[in-house]
Amino acid sequence: AIDPTLRTTKTTCPYCGVGCGVLATPDGSGGAAIAGDPEHPANFGRLCSKGSALGETVGLEGRLLHPMIRCKGTLERVAWSDALDHVAHRMQHIVARDGADAVAFYLSGQLLTEDYYVANKLMKGFIGTANVDTNSRLCMASSVAGHRRAFGADTVPGCYEDLDQADLLVLVGSNAAWCHPILFQRMRRNKEERGARIIVIDPRRTDTASDIDLFLGVKPGTDTALFSGLFVHLADSGALDKDYIEKNTSGFDAALARARSIAGSVTATALATGLSEQDVATFFQMFRDTARTVTLYSQGVNQSAQGTDKVNAILNCHLATGRMGKLGASPFSLTGQPNAMGGREVGGLANQLAAHMMFSPPEVDRVRRFWKAPRIATHEGLKAVQMFEAINRGEIKALWVMGTNPAVSLPDADVVREAMKKLELFVVSENVLSNDTVDAGVHVLLPALAWGEKSGTVTNSERRISRQRSFLPAPGEARPDWWIMGEVAKRLGFGDGFNYKSAAEIFREHAALSAFENDGNRDFDIGALQDVSDDAYDALVPLQWPAREGQAPGDRFFAKGGFFTPDGKGRFIAPEVPALKSETTASRPLRLNTGRIRDQWHTMTRTGLSQRLGAHLPEPFVEIHPDDASKYGVTDDSFARVTTDYGQCILKVVVSDRAQRGTLFVPIHWSEMNTSHGRVGALVQSFNDPFSGQPESKATPVSIAPY
Ligand code: SF4
Repeated sequence: AIDPTLRTTKTTCPYCGVGCGVLATPDGSGGAAIAGDPEHPANFGRLCSKGSALGETVGLEGRLLHPMIRCKGTLERVAWSDALDHVAHRMQHIVARDGADAVAFYLSGQLLTEDYYVANKLMKGFIGTANVDTNSRLCMASSVAGHRRAFGADTVPGCYEDLDQADLLVLVGSNAAWCHPILFQRMRRNKEERGARIIVIDPRRTDTASDIDLFLGVKPGTDTALFSGLFVHLADSGALDKDYIEKNTSGFDAALARARSIAGSVTATALATGLSEQDVATFFQMFRDTARTVTLYSQGVNQSAQGTDKVNAILNCHLATGRMGKLGASPFSLTGQPNAMGGREVGGLANQLAAHMMFSPPEVDRVRRFWKAPRIATHEGLKAVQMFEAINRGEIKALWVMGTNPAVSLPDADVVREAMKKLELFVVSENVLSNDTVDAGVHVLLPALAWGEKSGTVTNSERRISRQRSFLPAPGEARPDWWIMGEVAKRLGFGDGFNYKSAAEIFREHAALSAFENDGNRDFDIGALQDVSDDAYDALVPLQWPAREGQAPGDRFFAKGGFFTPDGKGRFIAPEVPALKSETTASRPLRLNTGRIRDQWHTMTRTGLSQRLGAHLPEPFVEIHPDDASKYGVTDDSFARVTTDYGQCILKVVVSDRAQRGTLFVPIHWSEMNTSHGRVGALVQSFNDPFSGQPESKATPVSIAPY
């Protein structure tokens, strides 16, 4: 029974980018009762299995409660002042000896916007390097790059209401039923109540593809061919919005010519994608004839060595039909993480500066003046995979990881783990005492507040900023991430820029930077919030940006043009001819696809605490088509050895025709903390998209054999 005197707090779910509102009521013994917030416009009171189980995951089991420093091989408890002095001293020494580019931060979409802001400001403005990247690089970077190429800014044109109002919903590389469940429920309700049709494009027949109108089981890596074929079909069948194209776009002819060379007909598209001509023709006709179409894309598109081109091939079709930021008609990138969007807003990627500004000289100068930055970075830093390669080569000597587990999640994860052992200074801010990254030889372990304890803001997939609020006391000596970084900044001599007393103060500065010398030419502007009082910040209701000072908040972009390119026009992009970077061979005859399961999150440090969530799919597995299972001699429920050129796993076999012939599917969540044999990151090749730097996680050549 819950003590009625304990207050219910409105907060936001820390898992996926849907950003559902949560009501949390502490139970008085360290846990909390959890319910959906009926007033939050993302979920209107609904929660999925992961969100509903949040109360089971907030205990102190396995928590890191005190700072620790490695001393003669073992981590020993130290005072905060000693830990902070040590980090600042070692960092200062390395920067003085090897330059600022010898240090790096690796951040997380789990961080709050205020934490992200301070990390970015400290590194890019004061230490003087842009070696700040984030696990969002593995998640959303291709969408960011695709948006920037087409729109001139990283802008999501639509909003969730469009999913309720569309007549056709096209999901590309997205298992939304498992990965964005509350949004998928909205889409299904639209189907049931309004008759909207749903198309799923995915090499794997996931739960999202159940009971829909058309499933297109494309061959891996062929999305660009499919959408190039669609673009050609729209042009040849009189379905273009010529007025929109003429007034608001550039690059149409070159992009269409390229699309013709990739997939100039239904037949060519079918050949390139492995689909039947009838299915291709049906898809083209449904898209062509449905003005209110939303195309949603997720990691199946982004996690690719040609992910940015895939995004732009999709955006080309929406630009060509003028279905851009209109009610029920828009492209829509589904964010993976709870605050990937907030991280992008502050510039938490190595190729962004801050507030959606990049590294052009005027932007560098503007941010320098705003921050009064003594040593601002003037060029892009190293993106995630490059960053760990530089660590492996000994060029980066100091790394500070915050709230993420790269020893599991990065591609070629064994090499990543070995690289971390070469660091002179390896700092991790964490909630947990142990995970694969901590156990890879961390020198300094700093206890950060967890969900339910920390307080700040996050931004979801529809650009909606919501508050995460604390409802549990800070345990042990755990502190907010922004406080930890601020204390190090002061010890580095940057006190004037980091004397923050609260998350609200940081948020006001972030909002002011977004509006600084912004006359409407930058998309990200929340200047209306730059003077928000502490009380108003505490009471902040979920709101979408832009929130420009003196203007009504906007909810959509680009319906009438107004792109953020120099000429104000949306750009059609001519993509490269689609081709996977690696070839299957006689010894690696299949392709490895990786992804999430319904009831786990990332590397399971939180969801793994819930027995209920663990009951859904309790162990790591490899999914294989029945024909391939008999060909390679593996049977359902047996164990198999799954091998790539990078590593191997021993996994339980699930024989299912959900898997496409020639492919295996393995979930991403397990690590050596919870099984000795399921760390799939060690199997994944390290090929990156040339524009986004996002690694390919869906098509590594692989073999399977009975174990
Ligand atoms: Fe949390 Fe995402 Fe589930 Fe909503 S859909 S409750 S944000 S995991």
